[in-house]
Amino acid sequence: MDIAENLAEVRRRVDVACAAAGRDPATVRLLPVSKTKPPPVIREAYDAGFRLFGENKVQEAVAKAAVFADVPDLRWAVIGHLQTNKAKQVAEVAAEFHALDSLRLAEALDRRLSALDRTLDVFVQVNSSGEDSKFGLPPDQVPTFAAELERFATLRVRGLMTLAVFSDDSALVGACFDRMRDLQARLQDTDGQPERWAELSMGMSGDYEQAIGYGATTVRVGQAIFGDRLDPNDYWPVSGR
Ligand SMILES: *Cc1c(COP(=O)(O)O)cnc(C)c1O
Repeated sequence: MDIAENLAEVRRRVDVACAAAGRDPATVRLLPVSKTKPPPVIREAYDAGFRLFGENKVQEAVAKAAVFADVPDLRWAVIGHLQTNKAKQVAEVAAEFHALDSLRLAEALDRRLSALDRTLDVFVQVNSSGEDSKFGLPPDQVPTFAAELERFATLRVRGLMTLAVFSDDSALVGACFDRMRDLQARLQDTDGQPERWAELSMGMSGDYEQAIGYGATTVRVGQAIFGDRLDPNDYWPVSGR
């Protein structure tokens, strides 16, 4: 598997999707999701020019951050659901957090970040499909949550994040992305700080091109770059996973 080639191919497809949507390709960021992949594979992507990597488990992000501690411009985006008791690790290692979905978690992160004198870029996770299995706030609760976040000086709100329904029916997937676009517009209208809602983190290996048509600004792509995820029993070992 040639990681650099895969990255170039996904980037090319991102650019094609931007052209089809009449968007400037510079407005879409490709976030490689390196979960389950060992450090040498991440190094290949780094050498291909990528500097920010997505991890969905905080222990794994912490372990990998330790491996790359001597590479100061390699940064981590924690993109998966987080328990409040792990806020400290995120505050320590993450440059971005894409799964903010409760006030308790915002409070825990703010407390840890204040102690470290750090700030964190955050994305509010939205359950755009209404599935019970998905994390995130229902869209109609987001405006209130957004207003509550204003009091946390350490949290720099960048926008919204979602996982669309996992389906072959592109109309169902598109409906999820469309809800996100509507919600973004509503927040930009009402909160008086449109730049807080500039980002839409949505689209994965199976649906990133479609997401771009609905305004995605960060696409989180794993398998299309790194191949199938490794079996948890046999990938690069991380204790406590
Ligand atoms: C794993 C993961 C992705 C990437 O999924 P792929 O299908 O491998 O592209 C994106 N977002 C989140 C939250 C993930 O956990």
